[in-house]
Amino acid sequence: MVSPRDDLDPATLLIARGRSNDPHVVNPPVYRASTHLSASCAELAASAARNADGAFFYGRRGAPTQWALAEALTALEPGAAGTVLYPSGVAAIAGALLAACRPGDVLLVTDNAYEPSRAMATGLLKRLGVEARFFDPLDAAGFAARFCDRTAAVLLESPGSLTMEVADVPALAATAREKAAAVLIDATWPSPLGLHSLAHGCDIVIQSLTKHVGGHSDLMMGACSAGPDWYPRLRTVAQELGQVVSPDDAALALRGLRTMAVRLERESAGALIVAEWLAAQPEVAEVRCPMLPGATGHALWRRDFIGGCGLFSFVLAPGIDQEARARLIDALELFGIGYSWGGFESLALPIDPHRIRTGAPWPAGQLAVRLSIGLEDPGDLIADLARGFAAMRER
Ligand SMILES: *Cc1c(COP(=O)(O)O)cnc(C)c1O
Repeated sequence: MVSPRDDLDPATLLIARGRSNDPHVVNPPVYRASTHLSASCAELAASAARNADGAFFYGRRGAPTQWALAEALTALEPGAAGTVLYPSGVAAIAGALLAACRPGDVLLVTDNAYEPSRAMATGLLKRLGVEARFFDPLDAAGFAARFCDRTAAVLLESPGSLTMEVADVPALAATAREKAAAVLIDATWPSPLGLHSLAHGCDIVIQSLTKHVGGHSDLMMGACSAGPDWYPRLRTVAQELGQVVSPDDAALALRGLRTMAVRLERESAGALIVAEWLAAQPEVAEVRCPMLPGATGHALWRRDFIGGCGLFSFVLAPGIDQEARARLIDALELFGIGYSWGGFESLALPIDPHRIRTGAPWPAGQLAVRLSIGLEDPGDLIADLARGFAAMRER
């Protein structure tokens, strides 16, 4: 097979990259190997000294199955020099933050960050002498004033977890760069198919591969991709921490990757149909779906993003209490109740963002539901939601 060019459409790259080196088979074999063998003492010494991607040395540095996945993810992210794989998305966040922060530093964290990111900032990083400060991601004008001479890094996430605010990523990243702070972005929601984070000025792009790349609710993995400045540092920290993913999981992730473009297209289209239906329900105060015309963040999403996904939230009208919300969700037959998302199946989750907001508070009484729209027929999902709303109206 000829080496596929980088100017191919991402949907084609998903198919063409991360393939087997053996021209007779499609997929890279699953190399289960702790020990890597060298042909001679000289080769052993050379591979230890080189410590390069794609070089056999020791199982913790991966083998061709993991390298193929990393190579495909690098090809998908314009500007990336390499990708480090981690055993979960949270491990990838830790890998990026530990590469970017040192004791005494200040870390700016978007207030709508994934909850474990907040917990890491106020827990692990605090114990290491890093001070986390949370900022309102929608206050791009006031962002520069948040920096001090100790600010070393910024953690962005757009759209934000649970509440789906779309930040002005290019503006925030440009401000951070002026202040010489590293820009980290959790881009799990868009994936590289929906947002070119490095091209928009970010230094490290973090993804939970558990979500869109896996796509089948059967594996956990994370990744960080970065340009030539940051990739070697990420790789060193990951090696110091002993991070490695299993070749079996890497093969599963590669399998998921092949269909990611069609799944995201289908999920996004389904999510938009469901979001439009929800917006017309009297019990729904607001639909927080960046792809929905007129929704908060839609204009920025259109400007910066090239794709969406099935994950969004809706806010219930004032007066609807937790029990009523539970009646809605419990009556659903096609939606599972669960936290992870991005699989083929639809999910619903009650969310209470007020517990974890400090920089941009969320009213305590404002109840919301997060949906992850899967690959089912959107009409069937709407009928299921109609059943949920009917159950909520019953008293
Ligand atoms: C799920 C998620 C993660 C963490 O991924 P895991 O693989 O579950 O550790 C990180 N960021 C976002 C935005 C997520 O939704």
